[in-house]
Amino acid sequence: MAHQEQSTATFPEHIRKKRNGEQLSAGEIRDFVQGVKDKTIQESQIGAMLMAIWLQGMVAEETLALTKEMMMSGEVMSWPAEWEGLMVDKHSTGGVGDKISLVLAPALAACGCKVPMISGRGLAHTGGTLDKLESIPGYNVYQSVQQLHRILEEVGCCIVGQTDNLVPADKVMYALRDVTSTVDSLPLITGSIISKKGAESLSALVLDVKFGNAALYKDLGSAKSLAQSMVTVGNSLGIRTGAVLSRMNCPIGRCVGNTLEVMESLECLKGRGPDDILELVTSLGGLLLWMIGRAGSLEEGKKVISKTLQNGAALEKFQNMMIGQGVTSQIAASLCSTNADYYSILRRAHYQTELETQGHGTVLDIDGMVIAQVLHRLGAGRSKAGDPVNHSVGAELLVSLGQKVEKGQPWLRVHYETPALSAEQRLSLQGALTLGTADHLHTQPLVAEIILP
Ligand code: URA
Repeated sequence: MAHQEQSTATFPEHIRKKRNGEQLSAGEIRDFVQGVKDKTIQESQIGAMLMAIWLQGMVAEETLALTKEMMMSGEVMSWPAEWEGLMVDKHSTGGVGDKISLVLAPALAACGCKVPMISGRGLAHTGGTLDKLESIPGYNVYQSVQQLHRILEEVGCCIVGQTDNLVPADKVMYALRDVTSTVDSLPLITGSIISKKGAESLSALVLDVKFGNAALYKDLGSAKSLAQSMVTVGNSLGIRTGAVLSRMNCPIGRCVGNTLEVMESLECLKGRGPDDILELVTSLGGLLLWMIGRAGSLEEGKKVISKTLQNGAALEKFQNMMIGQGVTSQIAASLCSTNADYYSILRRAHYQTELETQGHGTVLDIDGMVIAQVLHRLGAGRSKAGDPVNHSVGAELLVSLGQKVEKGQPWLRVHYETPALSAEQRLSLQGALTLGTADHLHTQPLVAEIILP
């Protein structure tokens, strides 16, 4: 048995050490994570340690030890030997209109990858992939490990919720971070995200780290620090890990809201998606294909992914994934048909209102954060874990950046039920659109930077 460093100090001493800015040993970090898992440390002590980490940070070795211990706190998945080198996944730090997973997972499966995508639910202004998929009648995000294996074997991709035994220490720590104001800590975020991806036993991982006014990180510098921390720890765990730093100001694509985003994802899978979604899907997927050696370069990888969206191969994977996760073959086939009548299957909100432009000019900005906050209040999102969401609430952008518009032209269609859209919310939404003269348009590439393994 390999020698494991044991700590003999008591837990208050570990807290004091971190509080005073000293480096914790691997053994001390193991004590902490095991105590969290076994419930042998009090919640007040966990909270104190989390705050000490938040205040003092961690050096790279500590973050790696924390991530490893968290990963080992529960089940670490194992896969058949013939899937070696093919297991891939993506994580996004969250944005508005971010439906990339719904398109990327089947596109990668169509390239021969195995994608055990374990996703989360929406919180605050950001949407969650599981909520989006649950707007499809019959789609079951809860699958046992055996079912997950079967779907991966038969289809190649699945998008599911976290199983009970995957990184149990994170469940405790995440809940306590929420109530101790310690969510926004670089080592704690790195540990939380990468431990869960590590437990999926991946060959390669791509991170979509967003920055901008509708993202967790507002500037490129702070997003880059997080990306670098996760890339370093991911690679140290033996997962080829790369990151894409992408701008998150305007919503991604034209639709925001669970049902609307499923419809837009289906359009992308039918080769009719907007350019920004295509850019993100191909960049993230292309990087993964290159990292696992299925493409000679990022550009080649992008082309291969793009082809699966044009030739229907990704759509077929999505159809089979839906069936594998409980959707009837009839519903799956109808949704995937070329001229699908989506609202014969997906629920449409009772009310739609179009907002009109109040002036003329060029569209300079569409503030995704403002749109998301209003939709959240209309029931599209949740304020705390466990709250219900209204899948049919959402908004469709009817204009795009750089477009010339006339006064009175519809620019946003809001889908709502009760509560109704108030005058104050209309006013907020109108503030999300900035018009001006074309010379003030500063379009910047969606993908700002790529961090390679
Ligand atoms: N998502 C996670 O799973 N953990 C974090 O800490 C932040 C985002």
